[in-house]
Amino acid sequence: MRFSLLSHLECSACRHHWDTGELLNTCPDCQAPLLARYDLALARKDLRRADFAARPRGMFRWHELLPIVSPENVVSLGEGDTPLLHLPRLGSQLRLTNLTLKDESLNPTGTFKARGQATAISRAKELGAQRVIIPTAGNAGGAMAAYAARAGLQARVYMPADTPRANIEECQAVGVEVILVDGLISDAARAVSEVVQQGGWFDVSTFKEPYRLEGKKVMGYELAEAFHWDLPDVILYPAGGGMGLVAIWKAFAELMSLGWLEGYHKPRMVAVQAAGCAPVVRAFEAGEKTNTFWENAQTVASGLRVPKSYGDRLVMETIYQSNGTAVAVSDEQILAAQAQLGRSEGIFAAPEGAATVAALPILLERGWLKPDEKILLLNTGTGLKYL
Ligand SMILES: *Cc1c(COP(=O)(O)O)cnc(C)c1O
Ligand SMILES: [Zn+2]
Repeated sequence: MRFSLLSHLECSACRHHWDTGELLNTCPDCQAPLLARYDLALARKDLRRADFAARPRGMFRWHELLPIVSPENVVSLGEGDTPLLHLPRLGSQLRLTNLTLKDESLNPTGTFKARGQATAISRAKELGAQRVIIPTAGNAGGAMAAYAARAGLQARVYMPADTPRANIEECQAVGVEVILVDGLISDAARAVSEVVQQGGWFDVSTFKEPYRLEGKKVMGYELAEAFHWDLPDVILYPAGGGMGLVAIWKAFAELMSLGWLEGYHKPRMVAVQAAGCAPVVRAFEAGEKTNTFWENAQTVASGLRVPKSYGDRLVMETIYQSNGTAVAVSDEQILAAQAQLGRSEGIFAAPEGAATVAALPILLERGWLKPDEKILLLNTGTGLKYL
């Protein structure tokens, strides 16, 4: 059995197949995001879902279903296998009988961004990149800096000048150059693309290279395993670019192909956004397949300050295919939910993670959630990074 069963890259729009031996960003034909594909028929024949439980903890115990071809190229800081916590006290306050939270704040650099950067930087190194660059709302840059330092790659991070201090300092602490940009992640992205056009830098922007998504999808594998291969009814995800939502959905599709899920029941996927930057919610309410740019984006949940995702089409597809929904919460609601989660369960969540808590009463009120459904919240990061 090969270390990785990666077979090819597939364009998410034109469906063209591309070779995995080359370092690609988006589809060379149509510039849409690329998705990694694996030899799942072989995996189905030779692998058992129980094999993975017996391995040492961490994201890379799923290596056959991840894109790194040679074990020596894996760059890891111990990401993955985060706890699944039952929330009985918060649940009873909200009259929900089956509320759980996957706590991604235990990842290296304090957020789930570590997962995506672990695979992206490992793969960039494997395919010969020497210099990596990223525009970020904050946490992706911090994670990228850490993994680039660990891989011995030169790195540069562009972020809004008003990004939380921890994000600036965590990059500098690992020797990575930070460029502060007046404006938002979209302005940082413009600055990065100018540098990338001059050559020599590999861009690891969200949805603009295929491998970050692969690290994030492991959240879906871990959830399936933790739920004994019988998934929750509803998953609430704080969506900025929305990559995690798409990635978890991809994981479930792969597990379905492998025949490892019990039954045919897949969760309804919910994108939770901040009212001050809610392009996905606006598109969902209008029944649209793509997003339009959100002007003057503003929210305390800096990771949700993404005016338009490069993967917007995939995000919308995930919501529609799963019979999910999209909901916006105000900063006031986010901060109140952060305090409620802290006081009731002892979890100091990032404002992004707290946004999923804030969405619960709204969805209950709408009758969209039933009190006895199996509900899973993703706390994507630690509140400590926002002090
Ligand atoms: C980046 C980020 C998000 C949003 O993730 P996307 O995959 O871009 O939707 C949510 N929470 C935190 C803490 C983040 O850093
Ligand atoms: Zn294409």
